[in-house]
Amino acid sequence: MADQELTDLASSLRGELITRDNEEAFRAARLRGWNSDLNRRVKPLAFVVVSGVRDIVTTVNYCRSKNIPITVRGKGAHSPYGMADDAVVIDLMQMTAVRVDPEKKLAYIQAGANGGDVDHETALHNLVCITGSVSHTGFAGVALGGGLGHLSRWLGPVVDSIVGYEMVTAKGEVVRVDESRDPELFWGMRGNGASFGIVTEFVLRLHDMPNEGIIRCAPILWAADKAQEVMTSWMSRIAQPDRKETETLQFAFMHSPDGDPVCGVVPLIVGETEASGKATCDELAAFGGGALVRQDAQLPYTAMQAALDECFPFGGNYWDKGVFIDYDPNDTTAVSSIVDTAVKYWSQMPDFALKLSTFLLFLEVSGAVARTPSSGTSFSARTGRLWATALIGWPDDDDAKQRAASKQWCDDFVAALGPFHVTTYLNNAMPESEAEMRGVFPEETLKRLQSLKQKHDPDNMFKMGAWQYEANK
Ligand SMILES: Cc1cc2nc3c(=O)[nH]c(=O)nc-3n(C[C@H](O)[C@H](O)[C@H](O)COP(=O)(O)OP(=O)(O)OC[C@H]3O[C@@H](n4cnc5c(N)ncnc54)[C@H](O)[C@@H]3O)c2cc1C
Repeated sequence: MADQELTDLASSLRGELITRDNEEAFRAARLRGWNSDLNRRVKPLAFVVVSGVRDIVTTVNYCRSKNIPITVRGKGAHSPYGMADDAVVIDLMQMTAVRVDPEKKLAYIQAGANGGDVDHETALHNLVCITGSVSHTGFAGVALGGGLGHLSRWLGPVVDSIVGYEMVTAKGEVVRVDESRDPELFWGMRGNGASFGIVTEFVLRLHDMPNEGIIRCAPILWAADKAQEVMTSWMSRIAQPDRKETETLQFAFMHSPDGDPVCGVVPLIVGETEASGKATCDELAAFGGGALVRQDAQLPYTAMQAALDECFPFGGNYWDKGVFIDYDPNDTTAVSSIVDTAVKYWSQMPDFALKLSTFLLFLEVSGAVARTPSSGTSFSARTGRLWATALIGWPDDDDAKQRAASKQWCDDFVAALGPFHVTTYLNNAMPESEAEMRGVFPEETLKRLQSLKQKHDPDNMFKMGAWQYEANK
């Protein structure tokens, strides 16, 4: 389509239309997303930076009449799927308002907001909902795929707290979706929510945050050569029965501020006294004969939420891939095999990897995540003890070898955990084939999602990367 043909769309908008003709603005819009490597690979037709719901309806109706595919992205724009070749990108970056009703304990979140926008408003009332564990990640993308955060062991995935959506359908209608109005679509939205329309607002049930939002958190670190011993102790510690779900202990391989490879336990302890939270951390810090550095302290939850932001700046080159794993914690062979895999891949990290942005993460995903049955929402990644992820950043924009080696490192790490693989989380799967997509959703879930897609977007107008697999069958 010629760019001139889009000009009649511009005259109906209150927001901004950016076409390829406007080279400078188009380039800036294209490179605005978080992952520079992915931004450079896609050439959309145009961007519509909408001012509100009406602009979304106008753009959807226009694109439908011209048979132009649509993608959507928010302020976060972290995923590879917010843009597609020759699609119009509806950009919600200006729709970031978050309103909290403290009496009803509900949040009304405009779909362009990022996690930090949400935490900022909910914390004012000592209330909380799950957002991503990097605060500049979009709330929408995280929530539409399921949404796991630092406190999911206590509060479950985001989708378990969603009570409703406002969305614009492929027909350009503005509808409310919730359990009473359309239970089947409500089920599908909670796990595969980017497929059926454009969400304009989320309504979330909030939870009380004890101690005015102060928790015990931040890493306890050891030199990397202690990883074998410390990770084994950590796996034994998280297997203890009767642990409170308000205690989450994550494990990470990362680099110290001086650039040395280290490993760490990251505690997130909610609702304890300062003395009892510290006592738990004292116990952890004794692993491996004693920690190198202790950063654990009484901190606002929102500070923890933003603590990783600088490790993942906008405009870098990144790849990540993860898998949910399970094992019998009493099976020492299984535990050793997981620990050995982690230690091996950390030691084989490509030498060009950006130290600040390269991690192996092992996150606890049991507890409240597993309480809702897998069929209760379309979010299916509820089984498994740990969410294991490799994340890597590389420096050189034009070095195809660095890109390939980075991807390979993540892929190999996930493949090596194959014997323990139980499920894959859509938002972290980077599925590149139908077979991989099938690993995300159980057969029955996939069938229900396909018929929802057929009903709500039969022409696959919302052409959103990974999600198009389900549409094409
Ligand atoms: C640094 C980093 C940290 C992360 N941490 C976590 C984490 O802690 N927990 C977790 O669960 N995941 C995490 N993820 C994965 C994350 O959930 C996905 O990358 C997610 O897609 C990012 O959402 P976004 O809104 O930033 O991206 P976007 O690219 O804006 O959107 C993601 C997808 O949702 C669609 N979409 C966006 N807005 C709408 C809308 N309003 N209506 C319909 N569709 C829409 C887009 O088209 C796209 O397909 C992380 C990712 C990164 C890169």
